[in-house]
Amino acid sequence: MTKRKVYLDHSATTYVRKEVIEAMMPYFSDIYGNASSFHQYGQESKKALTQSRETFAKLINAEYSDEIIFTSCGTESDNIAIKGVLPANHGRHIITTQIEHHAILYTCQYLEKKGYKVDYLSTDSAGKVNLQEIKNIITDETVIISIMHANNEIGTIEPIAEIGQMLREINKTRKNPVLFHTDAVQTAGKIKLDVQKLGVDLLSVSAHKFYGPKGVGALYVKKGTKIEPLFQGGHHENNLKPGTENIAGIVGMTKALELANNEISEENQKIYGLRKKLKDGILSKIPEITINTNTAESVSNVLSVSFNYIEGESLLLMLDMEGIAVSTGSACASGSTEPSHVLKAIGASPLASQGTIRFSLGKQNTAEDIDYVLEVLPRVVDRVRQMSPVWNSKFEK
Ligand SMILES: *Cc1c(COP(=O)(O)O)cnc(C)c1O
Repeated sequence: MTKRKVYLDHSATTYVRKEVIEAMMPYFSDIYGNASSFHQYGQESKKALTQSRETFAKLINAEYSDEIIFTSCGTESDNIAIKGVLPANHGRHIITTQIEHHAILYTCQYLEKKGYKVDYLSTDSAGKVNLQEIKNIITDETVIISIMHANNEIGTIEPIAEIGQMLREINKTRKNPVLFHTDAVQTAGKIKLDVQKLGVDLLSVSAHKFYGPKGVGALYVKKGTKIEPLFQGGHHENNLKPGTENIAGIVGMTKALELANNEISEENQKIYGLRKKLKDGILSKIPEITINTNTAESVSNVLSVSFNYIEGESLLLMLDMEGIAVSTGSACASGSTEPSHVLKAIGASPLASQGTIRFSLGKQNTAEDIDYVLEVLPRVVDRVRQMSPVWNSKFEK
C-alpha cells in the first residue's frame, strides 16, 4: 500500500497550477524575443510584458501600470523597497517590527551596521503591532516604515490600512513624508490586495507563494516615490530593476494572481474549514499544547502549534517519514536552533517554542488529509515525548 502524502507547507512554497504552466509555456519556446528588441520577436514579448503589467496593476488596484516593478522574488522586492528609498530621501531612521521575515529583518540589521537607526516594534500576544507605538516612535529622521501584511510563521494579519491612514494624517504636516512599505508575500492570493485602501507606497509579493512559479515577484511603487535602483544596467522596469525580463515568469505570476483573486472567497472558506478541523482535532487529541495562531486575526491557511516537551525538528522528521510535510516555525529559520524571533516576540515560552510546528494548508488539501494527520500526529507526538527525559520525569509517580 502506498502511503498517503500530505503537503502542509504552503507558506514555504506552492506547486505551480496547471493553468499557470499553460499560460507560461509559449514564452519559453515560441515567444522568446528580448522585450527590449525592436523587431517583431521582441515586440511580441514586450506586448506580453505590457499586458501583464496592466493586468497585475488592476489586480492590486494600483492606479498606474508603471507602478508595478517585476522582480526576481519577494526577497528582492523587499530589498529594493528598503534600500532603494534610503539614498533618495532625507533621514536615517527605519521602523519595522520584531516579527518580519528575514528578507526585511536581516536587511535592517545590515543597514544598522551601515549607520542607519532601526526601531523594531514589539507586538501583542497575537502578533499585532500597536498604532500608538508607531506614532510615538516616528521622528523627523524617519524615512520608511516596513510592516508585513501577514506573518509567515503564525499568520497574524497586521492592521496595514489603519496604519496607512494614520501615516497619511501624519504626513500632512511633515516636510518629508514617511514612506510605508508592506511585505504582502503571505497575503497575495489569500486577501484581495488593494494598495490604495492599504495606503502603502510600496508593497512586495512573490509568485511561488500563490501557485505561480519560483524566481519571480513584484514590487508596487506608488507614483512619485523617490527611490533608486540597487544595481545598474539597462532601463528595464522603470530603471529600478535592470536585466532582461523573465516574461514567462511574469505572465505566470499574473495568471496565478488572477486565478487566486477570482477564487478567493470560496478558497478561503474551504481552507478555514480544514484548519478548524485540524485545530479542533489537535486540541481534543493531544495534551500539553499551545495554539500560537490567533485564528480570528490571521490568514486562512496557517496553524502554528507548540507541543511541549518536544523538539520541533524531531517531530518534523517523524511526520516526514509518515508522508506529512510541515515546517518548524518557518522554512527560512529551520536549520538553526535559535528559538523563533516571532514566537519570542509574542511572548511564547522557550519550552513551548522549541516544539513548534507550522501547518500551512493549501489548494489540494482535503478533509481526508486532515483525518490522516489527526490519526498520525497524536501517535508520533506521544512517541517523541516518550523519548524525552523531561516528559518522563514529569509523569513518573
Ligand atoms: C517567502 C517570503 C519572503 C521571501 O520570498 P522569496 O520569493 O522566497 O524571496 C518574504 N517575505 C515573506 C513574508 C515570505 O513569506
